[in-house]
Amino acid sequence: MQQTKSSKLFEEAKRYMPGGVSSPVRAFRAVGGEPLFIKQAKGSKIVDADGNRYIDYVLSWGPLIVGHAHRTVVSTVCKTAAKGMSFGAPTALEITLAQSIQEAFPLMEQVRFVNSGTEAAMSAIRLARAATGRHKIVKFEGCYHGHSDALLVKAGSGAMTFGVPDSEGVPPDLARDTLTLPFNDMKAVEALMRQQGNQIACVIVEPVPGNMGTILPKPGFLAALREWTQPFGIVLIFDEVISGFRTAFGGAQSYFGIRPDLTCLGKIIGGGLPVGAYGGKRDLMQRVAPEGPVYQAGTLSGNPLGMAAGIAMLSLLKAPQFYERLEARAARLAEGLAQAARRARVPVQINRMASQMTLFFSEHPVDDYPSALRADARRFARFFWALLEKGVYLPPSPFESLFLSSAHTENDIEKTLAAAAFAFKQVR
Ligand code: PMP
Repeated sequence: MQQTKSSKLFEEAKRYMPGGVSSPVRAFRAVGGEPLFIKQAKGSKIVDADGNRYIDYVLSWGPLIVGHAHRTVVSTVCKTAAKGMSFGAPTALEITLAQSIQEAFPLMEQVRFVNSGTEAAMSAIRLARAATGRHKIVKFEGCYHGHSDALLVKAGSGAMTFGVPDSEGVPPDLARDTLTLPFNDMKAVEALMRQQGNQIACVIVEPVPGNMGTILPKPGFLAALREWTQPFGIVLIFDEVISGFRTAFGGAQSYFGIRPDLTCLGKIIGGGLPVGAYGGKRDLMQRVAPEGPVYQAGTLSGNPLGMAAGIAMLSLLKAPQFYERLEARAARLAEGLAQAARRARVPVQINRMASQMTLFFSEHPVDDYPSALRADARRFARFFWALLEKGVYLPPSPFESLFLSSAHTENDIEKTLAAAAFAFKQVR
């Protein structure tokens, strides 16, 4: 496969942008080599600058659950754009998208639209701090909630140590109020709550983590979060930027039957355009400006293009059997991959939730951040390149989730499995 045009573009891009990219993981550093530059996509396929076609399992990192350039979404966006792309004034489209979201997420009694998942999580935390009058927040090791200062903190050395920033440029004072716990560790949650529960503003969690690879919550873990936050008046925030409309139409909260106080959404609700949202109980949301004292704003927030794309997208998800079909394809892919790995005698763990999954090269179950980090990243890199050579485009990192869309056909899955059989032999 020739990638000369991509390579040339990459050289040029690096002159103008740090690492040649607008977001770090796109630079392929986790798998070595150079990134592909993409020129177009349709359905389950993307085409690079050299004209090579790939079955795409990145799907813009999750939003494109109906595949690339779905005609309903595209035509809605085009029609809307022709009438003006942003007014900085309210539109009826915002009401429609808010209603569509509420249909799936009834606990989001009110929502505020923003432009990214980062903004949604950052703003939800500001609101939780304001509502409780407390500063400390709790997140889980390996969970990603965007790149705002207070959330760029992963594990401290112990469950109850103060947060240490993950990035230079984050003042330690800001990170200090971010406490980090191991995911899936109910005892650690209980211990922290007993000790500091009345000082904690919120617990934020990806109910189905996707940013250390896909990790499944252990039975009872999410319920324990609800049980241990409620008595202390701690705001429980579900960051469903990935899991919203992915784990199920009503997200992980409907799948697991847990009632968070606030929910963050992004990705799918923008239909491929930059849209995020946070929302929850009316009494909490009434604290947001202009109704209340918690300031949060955005020039392009709720813009008609993003709203229209989101409305079109969510309407497609209501097609009969939409999630059942996706589930069947994803199950076939996961089972086929496991079988191919077994045949090649390569130990793997495939963690799957609905149409989201990660293949870890590991002999042991992967259910938290340390076990994810123990997976063989070098082997993943070789696997990634072997698949790419066969026309299958996986997320270029061992710690990401791959996604399926309704545009992925049975034929795509079978081709992927044939490519995987080849790739597993390569990495044996
Ligand atoms: N929360 C979660 C769970 C995410 O997966 C992401 C992005 N991958 C974010 C927040 C941040 O969203 P964005 O990249 O739109 O800022």
